[in-house]
Amino acid sequence: MNQLNPYAWIDRSLETIRQANWYRTVRSIESLPGNAATIEGRALINFGSNDYLGLAGDERMIRAAMLATQQFGTGATGSRLTSGHKQLHQDLEEAIVGLKGTEAALVFSSGYLANLGTIAALAGKQDLILSDRVNHSSLKNGARLSGAKIMEYRHCDVADLQELLQAHRDSYRRCLIITDTVFSMDGDICPLPEILALAIEHHAMLLVDEAHATGIFGRNGAGVVEHFDLVGQPLIEMGTLSKALGSLGGYVAASAPIVDFLKNRCASWIYTTGLSPADTAAALTAIEIVTTTPQLRQQLWQNVANLKQQITAQLPELRLIPSQSPIICIELPDASTAMSIGSQLQHAGIFAPAIRPPTVPTSRIRLSLMATHQPAQLTDLVTAIGQIFTPTSVS
Ligand SMILES: *Cc1c(COP(=O)(O)O)cnc(C)c1O
Repeated sequence: MNQLNPYAWIDRSLETIRQANWYRTVRSIESLPGNAATIEGRALINFGSNDYLGLAGDERMIRAAMLATQQFGTGATGSRLTSGHKQLHQDLEEAIVGLKGTEAALVFSSGYLANLGTIAALAGKQDLILSDRVNHSSLKNGARLSGAKIMEYRHCDVADLQELLQAHRDSYRRCLIITDTVFSMDGDICPLPEILALAIEHHAMLLVDEAHATGIFGRNGAGVVEHFDLVGQPLIEMGTLSKALGSLGGYVAASAPIVDFLKNRCASWIYTTGLSPADTAAALTAIEIVTTTPQLRQQLWQNVANLKQQITAQLPELRLIPSQSPIICIELPDASTAMSIGSQLQHAGIFAPAIRPPTVPTSRIRLSLMATHQPAQLTDLVTAIGQIFTPTSVS
């Protein structure tokens, strides 16, 4: 009978995924977002959140979302070009412009949609896209959707990028370089000044993904572009409202003509419903908090330094993946070890997700630090890791 069932292959595929230890399921977190997470009725110290500044559970954000809902309702009710545009969206776009120092900005329903639509609008069949090999899924899929020729350069390898540009740039009409600024699964940052210089030299567009940098890097929290003092340079920035900004949605910040073009050509912005009033108001409040409270960023970076210092001093045998961000990964030999250590950490009161292939080539425990982690929570983490990791589990 199985030959007659067109869906039978799905069971076989799931079985293969399980056998490789790649099978994934969701886990419910039952508490307000914060430095602790209640999972299966137990409060765990939370090292699995992208809420770097602790804003997703912040009272000011919740109040702004509730007020906006009372005033404007739960849904935007239409696409921005039809009935879904509100002054609130414009206020948020102006706040992003203020944060980023660009001429204009455009808010999307998610960061993923921002990347898909923007890349597909900027490049086409006659064009070349050069993409860092470990870029986020949304950048890679945006490149595929565009129909352009895609070439991947070695991770953060400026010499490789330069070779590809020299060899191939002239065979294509337009060229677009795409890269994460903070790499979400390793925590390292891209060599942006060198990449930008190559883009300028070879008349290439450059789109950078600031998803894990917005609100965290740079003097005002604008991101890695600000960190490298590159505000005002000819590049396109995108990011998300859902990580350090604690809301939902994505953005593109760029020159006025680029944003104008996207409003006319970007399908994932034109043909989707506008961001909800609650998400829009929360993101707007988050940007106000980010720009007026540099102490939050200082606390976060202090926690990063503190944890790295404790690990170096007490657990020198751990293999940490090089990182310049609040994302700190412990490299592990295989998926089943990562899963086992993840669940042992959970027993010890620590939530830190195991990340496995196909998301990353090498399995790991991924720790995300927050500004709101207390020193005692970091000490508890280091103690738990020390008790769980044996020389065999890390070699
Ligand atoms: C999370 C993430 C996105 C997607 O953002 P969402 O708003 O969650 O859709 C895009 N790029 C990178 C690098 C990310 O980490």
